[in-house]
Amino acid sequence: MVGQRLAGKRCFVTAAAQGIGRAAALAFAAEGAEVIATDRDAAKLAELNAPGLTTAVLDMLDASAIEAAAKQAGVIDVLFNCAGFVHQNTILTATEAEWDFAFDLNVRSMWRMLRAVLPGMIERKRGAIVNMSSACSSIKGAPNRFIYGTTKAAVIGLTKSVATEYVREGIRCNAICPGTVDTPSLGERIAANATQAGGLDAARSAFVARQAMGRLATAEEIAALAVYLASDESGFVTGQAIVIDGGWTL
Ligand code: NAD
Repeated sequence: MVGQRLAGKRCFVTAAAQGIGRAAALAFAAEGAEVIATDRDAAKLAELNAPGLTTAVLDMLDASAIEAAAKQAGVIDVLFNCAGFVHQNTILTATEAEWDFAFDLNVRSMWRMLRAVLPGMIERKRGAIVNMSSACSSIKGAPNRFIYGTTKAAVIGLTKSVATEYVREGIRCNAICPGTVDTPSLGERIAANATQAGGLDAARSAFVARQAMGRLATAEEIAALAVYLASDESGFVTGQAIVIDGGWTL
């Protein structure tokens, strides 16, 4: 359902060129927000069009680019920290390089983005922050997700810390914890698992089977939760890690 739940709000979205970030940027715009949709992929960003939506190239691994983008954006009422990467590894196969990359992108980039955006929110005594975590985090373990689950658990800790620090300043901070969502990067993980699983269909079925509902989430279903957390409807919700997983954690 589309309305005006974000009218008058300026929303900044990271990793918005595809998948959940893209769906959220479009959903925010459809709800009347001004949206700054950012991603490192300029070509895919250029395909993103909606009234009220502007795009900016931003690599979330680039500290000075994050600062510059936040400055350029001006007032930000809503920050959706969506950028993240899924490594498939165990504690024994993971590499130091994968650990560093995942913590840089999945956690440190959120800290940098928040550091750039929070002073304005504190000054205006207004802000809603939505951080992308996962059901695979401190909520539940998943096979072959050692570094990924560890970073997404850190996102929940970061979220609770920010929520606690600024609960009296009009700023809310929540995390979204999805199960498996049908996005382009899931397609890459399915392809990577195909040989071991006995084909693409079998690899996809293994992901589907994890959800008790017997299907994957759509990016739009996750975006709908992001809209709620960004909007004033969730004004009494802060510091929460909200699971949206088709029953994976039942
Ligand atoms: P995706 O992986 O399909 O797309 C990711 C987007 O991030 C791309 O547009 C890419 O260009 C961009 N990106 C990658 N590195 C970047 C960087 N350094 N700076 C800026 N942009 C960058 O998207 P997705 O599957 O929707 O995942 C988005 C988020 O949701 C991630 O944090 C992921 O961990 C999380 N998540 C996904 C699932 C799932 O099943 N797909 C489940 C739980 C959580």
